[in-house]
Amino acid sequence: MNAIIKDNKAYCPFCNEYDYRVTDCKQIELGTQMQVICRKCNREFEYIVKLRIENAVRFV
Ligand SMILES: [Zn+2]
Repeated sequence: MNAIIKDNKAYCPFCNEYDYRVTDCKQIELGTQMQVICRKCNREFEYIVKLRIENAVRFV
């Protein structure tokens, strides 16, 4: 289940709360996928953080 994103914050898609803890994260093509658990309803959901590109990418 994906989080509801409002104002760059990830809200629980089950109870709509902005209160969670991160259990896992992994790098994916789009950025970083965060796996979190809601502190209110204890259900897992995930969202993607789009990381800024900090190193210049060189196209050959
Ligand atoms: Zn919840």
